[in-house]
Amino acid sequence: MIDVLVIGGGNAALCAALTAREAGARVLLLEAAPRAWRGGNSMHTRNLRCMHDAPQDVLSGSYTEEEYWQDLFEVTAGHTDEALARLVIRGSATCRPWMQRHGVRFQPPLSGALHVARTNAFFLGGGKALVNAYYRSAEAMGVTVRYDTPVDTLELQDGHFVAAVSGGQRFAARACVLAAGGFESNRAWLREAYGQNARGEWPADQFLIRGTRYNQGALLKAMMAAGADMVGDPAEAHCVAIDARAPRYDGGIATRIDCVSLGVVVNQQGERFHDEGEDFWPKRYAIWGHLVAEQPGQIAYALIDAKAQGRFMPPVFAGTQAETPAALAEALGLPQEALLRTLGTYNAACRAGTFDHTRLDDCHTEGLSPPKSHWALALDTPPYTGYILRPGITFTYLGLKVDATAAAHFGGTPSDNLFVAGEMMAGNILGQGYTAGIGMSIGTVFGRIAGARAAAATGQPLTPLS
Ligand SMILES: Cc1cc2nc3c(=O)[nH]c(=O)nc-3n(C[C@H](O)[C@H](O)[C@H](O)COP(=O)(O)OP(=O)(O)OC[C@H]3O[C@@H](n4cnc5c(N)ncnc54)[C@H](O)[C@@H]3O)c2cc1C
Repeated sequence: MIDVLVIGGGNAALCAALTAREAGARVLLLEAAPRAWRGGNSMHTRNLRCMHDAPQDVLSGSYTEEEYWQDLFEVTAGHTDEALARLVIRGSATCRPWMQRHGVRFQPPLSGALHVARTNAFFLGGGKALVNAYYRSAEAMGVTVRYDTPVDTLELQDGHFVAAVSGGQRFAARACVLAAGGFESNRAWLREAYGQNARGEWPADQFLIRGTRYNQGALLKAMMAAGADMVGDPAEAHCVAIDARAPRYDGGIATRIDCVSLGVVVNQQGERFHDEGEDFWPKRYAIWGHLVAEQPGQIAYALIDAKAQGRFMPPVFAGTQAETPAALAEALGLPQEALLRTLGTYNAACRAGTFDHTRLDDCHTEGLSPPKSHWALALDTPPYTGYILRPGITFTYLGLKVDATAAAHFGGTPSDNLFVAGEMMAGNILGQGYTAGIGMSIGTVFGRIAGARAAAATGQPLTPLS
């Protein structure tokens, strides 16, 4: 019989499988995707957020436990489990040598990744190279991997894992790690979670899925049906505004539009609806998906003029360009009169200061609602460019309640052999909000804990994680 069954094929699953194997367990990993699409959302990632008390190879300065914790506390508005969050933060300080032993390589950030050189370690070759390295290492260590194997049913007895079933095939094991992502790819469930708005629209129907199509939430549903303790709100998710031309799945980071803070954003009525210069873009980009989702038709238009060119990471596809705002309105299908009024009012409200995109500068609007608090320059220099935006969902936060051993809970009691890692439990730490790079920190730290605990549940010694 298999000792440890790992369900999922992304970062959290691989960290669990490798750690359980290192502890001596016989490990089988079931990945829903075919081999060519293995790796879940993890293959789209670029970095992980790491605590460090002094400069390290690719990390500058220091990023202490307290600063990391304060950043997390701020973005979640306190909706986080402090003990579990601190476990992740401390684990992020020590996991990189282990990652390197399994073939992951790091690099300094490229330009365009503002403000994260100190806090985030970038993967050489991105998340795709990371998951490939882990798969290579897992196979070399004797972990058995089965692709095209979406688990649909779990057999549990009073919270004790017995077996998993995929298409009628049964996989019994002495312990199990669930690491099968959120439900962000399940359009029917997203529709149900986000509901119908006052205009009679179903906003989630317009969402683009930034990552894998395989995170259907089947195991979250199975665990809910089995009475597992859950955390998080089904309508909480990491959701950004992305290029409306992105594919419905797997567009990845190439579909991001990073010029919002350099211009204005209007809805299809040609009206602004939020402060584009509220804070640094890396701190604000994750609110724009929800903001666009609230607009009529779930669509918005990011508009800039020539002054903004060269000041942001250029999107893969060129925007729509025109020599006048009126021509831009026509090219984008926006109501011309309304857009000209919006731009005229905005331009008149801009109070010139010293423009500096690297700090919260003093270029702001006066007497405008909503205001633009920083980087507010009049849009007056042709050519004008517009990018059409849609909500792009990254991952959902509904998850399974865990403790510091990563054990799933049933009625407050931890399972003795069923553990959870990654997006399936990230909601314990991310009740809302997001700080870049913490998804991979959570998956790496809890993947390793879950793998070690699952191996221990089969009688292997519980080895401390270095
Ligand atoms: C475009 C994009 C960029 C991102 N960039 C970053 C970044 O730079 N840094 C960061 O920290 N986070 C980033 N994230 C978030 C990050 O991807 C996640 O937090 C992290 O990858 C979650 O890892 P995971 O292993 O839990 O899930 P995933 O990597 O999504 O893996 C889930 C796996 O489970 C499999 N699966 C699903 N259902 C089943 C089933 N029923 N049976 C068997 N297998 C199943 C899937 O096929 C998949 O392999 C990004 C996400 C996206 C979409």
